[in-house]
Amino acid sequence: MNKQQIIDEAEHTLYKTYNRYPVVFDHGKGVHLYDSDGQEYLDFGAGIAVMGLGYDDEEYKEALKDQIDKLLHVSNLFYNQPSVEAGEKLLKVSGMDRVFFTNSGTEAIEGALKIAIRHAYNKTGSHDHEIIAMKNSFHGRSLGALSVTGNDHYQEPFKPLLPGIRFAEFNNLDSVKALVNEKTCAILMETIQGEGGIYPASEEFLKGVRKLCDDNGILLMLDEIQCGMGRSGKMFAWQWYDVVPDVMTVAKALGNGVPIGAFLAKGEAAAAMVPGDHGTTYGGNPFVTAAASRVLDIFEKRDIPGHAAEIGEYLKEKLEELKSRCSLIADCRGKGLIQGVELTVPAGPVVTKALLEEKLVLITAGEKIIRFVPPLVIEKEDVDEMIKRLEKALMN
Ligand SMILES: *Cc1c(COP(=O)(O)O)cnc(C)c1O
Repeated sequence: MNKQQIIDEAEHTLYKTYNRYPVVFDHGKGVHLYDSDGQEYLDFGAGIAVMGLGYDDEEYKEALKDQIDKLLHVSNLFYNQPSVEAGEKLLKVSGMDRVFFTNSGTEAIEGALKIAIRHAYNKTGSHDHEIIAMKNSFHGRSLGALSVTGNDHYQEPFKPLLPGIRFAEFNNLDSVKALVNEKTCAILMETIQGEGGIYPASEEFLKGVRKLCDDNGILLMLDEIQCGMGRSGKMFAWQWYDVVPDVMTVAKALGNGVPIGAFLAKGEAAAAMVPGDHGTTYGGNPFVTAAASRVLDIFEKRDIPGHAAEIGEYLKEKLEELKSRCSLIADCRGKGLIQGVELTVPAGPVVTKALLEEKLVLITAGEKIIRFVPPLVIEKEDVDEMIKRLEKALMN
């Protein structure tokens, strides 16, 4: 099939929930993608913050190949070694007590929500609970995750959703306090809002919410699906804040391209669910956990979070410089290698132009924000090259 045939066939075949760019990617190398015509693209999207190690890491691929030759899947009715190894490593870097492997981020959120509800049921025997989530948040597309996603546009066609969800304003502690009552069982938020436009939690806010949770017996649940796994410059973004969650979720870069997520819990929350309460056929199978296990090894051995912190600083500096010469840029914000540039105009056309004319892959976050979530292994030269191409795309 040639490029146009692939696009036409996709438009007839695949369920139409995306407006795709007219590009067919064929393979990747390092931080570059190549399309079906062999054109090279610089990738600052990483498959939406997934390809932390880039596209052709030999050490990573070796773990996949070895596991393919051994065993792809067994059910969770049995034990398997890769899942235990990946689990141990994830507990070590997070300080959590228990982990459950899922197939995606949205399923990790489902698990977190079930912990919150189960924990509240264990304590009160009642079914009347409330969860506080944040406006402008994103937690996934399944009905539970959508229920806590503070985005009217995504929610509206699928109502009614889960009952008992209250939305507070992110980085506004008073708005959270105003919603807390004796039914509140959990507060859920992204440590750095991704999809909503790259808004890091302020230190005052996150610490304030932690204290509110402690004072009222509420679980703090942090969604680290996008900002976690080294992206912020620490393994998990909450590690910048001197705050520890009771429940956390990861996915995206955890598998570096194989579908795997996880929810993790600490203390009482780690024991809230019992056998029979939750399950998954694929989740945590030996193939995906062998991948995650190797990812975690590589993160430690090569200090990927430290590298993300260093290059992230450089990226931030270069974006600030660009802002000073480009009147279309209203704001720059982010942490490490999750950065956002807010424009005075819609970001969609700029991102499209960058892709099609400058061969630069960027994604948007919200209407006016360009999101930078490159592979964590990018170097300063890649940042320089990206800025050059972006500046051209920003010029008319
Ligand atoms: C991507 C994302 C999700 C959903 O993950 P999927 O793997 O797409 O289901 C949830 N929360 C955050 C913060 C995300 O960025």
